[in-house]
Amino acid sequence: MEKIKKIDIHAHATPFPQYVPKHKDNQERCLSDEELIGLYEKLDIEMGVLLPCVSPEAQTHPNTSEAAKFMVDKHPDRFVWFCNIDPRSVYNLPTTDHTYLLEHYKSLGAKGLGEMTINMYIDDPMLENLFACCAEVDMPVTIHMAPEVGGYYGIVDDLGLPRLEKLLKKYPKLKILGHSHHFWAEITKLANEEERNGSQWSKVVPGTIERLMRECPNLYGDLSAGSGGTAMMRDPEYAAKFMTEFADRLFYGTDICDIPSTFPGNLPYDFAAFLDNMAETGMISMDVYKKIVRENAIKFLNLDLD
Ligand SMILES: [Zn+2]
Repeated sequence: MEKIKKIDIHAHATPFPQYVPKHKDNQERCLSDEELIGLYEKLDIEMGVLLPCVSPEAQTHPNTSEAAKFMVDKHPDRFVWFCNIDPRSVYNLPTTDHTYLLEHYKSLGAKGLGEMTINMYIDDPMLENLFACCAEVDMPVTIHMAPEVGGYYGIVDDLGLPRLEKLLKKYPKLKILGHSHHFWAEITKLANEEERNGSQWSKVVPGTIERLMRECPNLYGDLSAGSGGTAMMRDPEYAAKFMTEFADRLFYGTDICDIPSTFPGNLPYDFAAFLDNMAETGMISMDVYKKIVRENAIKFLNLDLD
């Protein structure tokens, strides 16, 4: 098969690995830009999107927009970046005009906003205000989704993602990249919270994600991490149909963030191999494969690549 270099829609790194705290229990730490490039060499990834995380729920220390931009300046041929803003920024108000900051980061080359990890309901006025500002300046947003407030990081929705649906339909110009377990769990029909929180390896009975992707052209799928990878690998027949129908709005990704990696097994390698194999065996067309692992990112992020 023709070798296609992949583009990673979702990764995290720090330019200051010597300063960032290690995880108390397992001594993992955020990896450096150079370490991430080392993994990209092994995974045959040409370029990745660096996502800052600024809300305190997700980590011990903020990973800022400025740090992401700094790493892009060091390695402009390997990285692009999103900026990030906590919706409580500048006076903790639902009326703050964030377009000023968004335009600032956009002028420095930011391609979007995320990963949004604040643990607040999606339709909290403060968060909705930030989404509206992103729609206004055409900044796509990568969301990490959680099931409740407290004990999680990520924006909160109920079973069946009704609040996300309302948001997507209210702001048709807002582009959302869906990510995390509680987003991709909805690929299958879910009966209750237990199923929503549980591990996800059974065959897919088409659920909320398929319907939302059909009804909301502004919803995109970030296939990174165990969540996105599992949603595809759990049921290759369904994955082939899903990837073919939504070939223009799905993105390959890794969500590599720590070293040594927290991924169970060899997830980034397994998922890359899974996609390669889907194309090699003809379960998806070469056209669909190329879009998902590379071409969609080039178009969506306006990258200077072929
Ligand atoms: Zn992430």
